[in-house]
Amino acid sequence: MLDVDFFRRWIGTAAASVEREADRLTELDSAIGDADHGSNLQRGFRAVTAELEKAAPDTPGAVLILAGRQLISTVGGASGPLYGTLLRRTGKALGDSAEVTPAQLAEALGEGVAAVAQLGGAKAGDKTMIDALEPAVAALGT
Ligand SMILES: [Mg+2]
Repeated sequence: MLDVDFFRRWIGTAAASVEREADRLTELDSAIGDADHGSNLQRGFRAVTAELEKAAPDTPGAVLILAGRQLISTVGGASGPLYGTLLRRTGKALGDSAEVTPAQLAEALGEGVAAVAQLGGAKAGDKTMIDALEPAVAALGT
């Protein structure tokens, strides 16, 4: 079973990855965008980390809803709403259970990814984050 500590570690690991790779993300964004993707995500995940400490949500769903809300309100451009929607919708789908199974997480993440696809008007093969998220959900569900 996956409990609130698992979800806090998951978001913490994501935040650490963003810190580590922020310069590279910005460098990649400079080729086709406005060179702010790394710094935007860094700002967002720092806000998520601070709010997780302060609010101390006590269910898996509440951790993801809080993280999603922080990303939406602190990350500029399209990525804040996209990542934020992924986490919020997944968190809502988990409900207020204290523990969830990997299968329940896979199903909830599937709802989150569907919400991202709808928000961005993207489908598999469009060279968007959907191309990474859908196989990840499928792998988690097997
Ligand atoms: Mg940008």
